[in-house]
Amino acid sequence: MVKAVVGANWGDEGKGKITDMLGSAADIVVRYQGGANAGHTIVNQYGKFALHTLPSGVFYDNITNVIGNGVALDIPVLIDEIASIISKGVPAPKLLVSDRAHIMMSYHKNFDAYEEERLGKKSFGSTKSGIAPFYSDKFAKIGFQVSELFDDDLLKEKVIKIAEMKNVLLTYFYHRPALQPEDLYKELVAYRQKIEPFVCDVSLYLDKAIKKGKDILLEGQLGALKDPDHGIYPMVTSSSTLAAYGAIGAGIPPYAIQDIIVVCKAYSSAVGAGAFVSEIFDEAAETLRLRGGDGGEFGATTGRPRRVGWFDCVASRYGCRLQGATEVAFTVLDVLGYLDEIPVCVGYEIDGEVLTDFPVTHRLNKAKPVLEVLPGWQEEIRGIKDYENLPKNCRRYIEFVEEKLGFPIKMISNGPNRDDIIYKR
Ligand code: GDP
Repeated sequence: MVKAVVGANWGDEGKGKITDMLGSAADIVVRYQGGANAGHTIVNQYGKFALHTLPSGVFYDNITNVIGNGVALDIPVLIDEIASIISKGVPAPKLLVSDRAHIMMSYHKNFDAYEEERLGKKSFGSTKSGIAPFYSDKFAKIGFQVSELFDDDLLKEKVIKIAEMKNVLLTYFYHRPALQPEDLYKELVAYRQKIEPFVCDVSLYLDKAIKKGKDILLEGQLGALKDPDHGIYPMVTSSSTLAAYGAIGAGIPPYAIQDIIVVCKAYSSAVGAGAFVSEIFDEAAETLRLRGGDGGEFGATTGRPRRVGWFDCVASRYGCRLQGATEVAFTVLDVLGYLDEIPVCVGYEIDGEVLTDFPVTHRLNKAKPVLEVLPGWQEEIRGIKDYENLPKNCRRYIEFVEEKLGFPIKMISNGPNRDDIIYKR
């Protein structure tokens, strides 16, 4: 059985916690897209961790963790992350890395930083992890696949070609030092030595696992609204954030994915630039930001303050639909307990017309939120285990959102820990 855990919104919905929680029942956890640009926060018996590259199953010694072909493989970050969890007492994880994954090169990160600097105020708010240059090169067919590390002649030839191409931009466009083919070769050889123990034909491995009836969890990064095709283009990421891409980024058949758990946060948050219709500002935002998540809404990778806003039914319904939700996990609900009234965005007003279906970006940029205000519950709900024991107004909030989404909320997360979870129905 293959399940996917993915985000409905802009990311940071609490997928790490849900994956970690469901992980206990899984045999294999797979990352299938994205790179070290976002982080999952996980709180468990070993401490609090922000994972950027490792799959969330690394804290269970019965789980095999897999980095699929769709991932932007940042080898130094991966190796550091393994060392860092081991140093906190976590047993060395079982890890497999696809021989078809592409390698994040140091020049990808440099190009990312140079471009953000060039764009200045118009920048994308990139984490400068090299993601856009990396995926551009992958699809321009000038990336390095893990398998290529083991063909020395190919590497020696390819580094010359790459340096030649990259140096045109570096020299004439960015006015930065040129790449030397020997340096690129050395970088790749160092990567080869580090990654060799983990390299695997992941698609074949997963095919066998599926046939043996193993439980496989696909772990998505970011959320539907950051998808390059269906998100708020161009303020999106550079690999697909949808569950559908799990099939491609892990190398399994699309019909193998039977359960799609879409994680939706009880309010909204976003990092980076781009339309965010239900965003709030000033004091209301500051309070929600400080109370949000587990210790405030600040980026797991960058520490940047996240933008925050009210729950957005329009964006979330769209996100659940594009992900193909079989169920919704509604998270971080405990945080809203301080509010006496909770506004919810139920529509977008664009040029005098109210929409409830998510529009394309150029229209989205004009949208103003249509808010409906629900009563708050003003109570601490952490520690509650049964749905019936939640305060009446809290259940009302959940059921209101569920109706607007049109997808069943089956899990409610009321705290950052693994066991802070309520099953509904
Ligand atoms: P991800 O990228 O989707 O995994 O999201 P984050 O790593 O940004 O997780 C969101 C933050 O919320 C983290 O600090 C989590 O520990 C925390 N968190 C997750 N679920 C809950 C919850 O139900 N309540 C609270 N208060 N915090 C949560």
